[in-house]
Amino acid sequence: MLPRGLSLRPDFLANLAALSSGYVLSHVVKRPLVWGYPISIMIEPISRCNLRCPLCPIGARELKRDLGVMSLENFKLMLDNVGRYVKVIALWNQGEPTINDHLPEMISEATKRGIYTMVSTNGTLLHRRNLMTRLLDAGLSELVFSIDGLTPDSYKIYRIGGELEVVVENMKEFRKLRDARGSKTPKMIMQWLPMKHNQHEIPYLRAKAKEWGADSVEIKTAQIYSEEQAAQYLPDLEELRRYEKQGQRWETKRRYQSCKRLWFSTMIDWNGNVVPCCFDKDEQFLMGNALSQDFKTIWHGEKYNSFRTQLIRHGRVEEMCRNCTEGLKSYYIPLTKLEAMAPPDIPPVPPENMPKKPDYSDLFDLPVKEES
Ligand code: SF4
Repeated sequence: MLPRGLSLRPDFLANLAALSSGYVLSHVVKRPLVWGYPISIMIEPISRCNLRCPLCPIGARELKRDLGVMSLENFKLMLDNVGRYVKVIALWNQGEPTINDHLPEMISEATKRGIYTMVSTNGTLLHRRNLMTRLLDAGLSELVFSIDGLTPDSYKIYRIGGELEVVVENMKEFRKLRDARGSKTPKMIMQWLPMKHNQHEIPYLRAKAKEWGADSVEIKTAQIYSEEQAAQYLPDLEELRRYEKQGQRWETKRRYQSCKRLWFSTMIDWNGNVVPCCFDKDEQFLMGNALSQDFKTIWHGEKYNSFRTQLIRHGRVEEMCRNCTEGLKSYYIPLTKLEAMAPPDIPPVPPENMPKKPDYSDLFDLPVKEES
């Protein structure tokens, strides 16, 4: 089987070759040469979430841009606009995608076009609106469940407002429905972020994922925005962090300069706004709008190219690229490596050292705009 998103179609291979050679040559001549179009996109179906995860800008209610919901019509327009080379769509960004009731229809539309579809969810709402059956019918390729605690107590420290029992029930039910169809898709992934308060759970990840119906476990490192968050959440084991201390600051362990994502993928927010990647949380580097402009013009435009130039010449754009995993040895930590590093006797963090729970009384108090 081909890796996710790859195709042997001649036009796709030609686009890939054009993108790759442009990417390499750009770093020789030190200016952007972009000869193809994105093969993967991240699309934000909604910028709203029912949980309050403290390290997530939408969970912490810190996003400054307009919030809202993407319509199915606009999703189709964007797919048409971005082009026929797209082979992978990640349907999430800032927000819980399953809140958008059009999500299954969006997946269905992408599936019809031969695109590999991925959804990352907190899993708390899947039992509503017949969503499980609708996602299965739509032909979803991959479903990621974010679970950052294997017991109700450790789960609630980070997934504030969620209930582990509900998510586990939903995972099991989803697996049951998938099995009843004799299908292996969507691939079910249990995603787990190592943090100070859950690092002792490593030896139990494999068994729990299996028990709850996941096909595999993916371990991503947590991102932080402040020294206080670093102190509260970063795990003790150095290998479980994407950061290292440089002077007074936590910096990522990025080694190589530049960024492939600016040649091979793009990011579109709920309202059609195009930004370089999911790390531009507040649309600081707005490249254009895929609902009102031709995407090719945006992709080859002055703004995109001057942003690429900064990456080619300086290896990063200050602050925005600070948390990025691009250029790290691996985006995910393999479970086997993690198990080898973590003996089963890591003691749980004593309750007095647990991160403080923020107040979440305004859980649903979010300004949400209808798209025009
Ligand atoms: S944060 Fe910077 S380095 Fe990372 S993907 Fe975005 S533009 Fe590239």
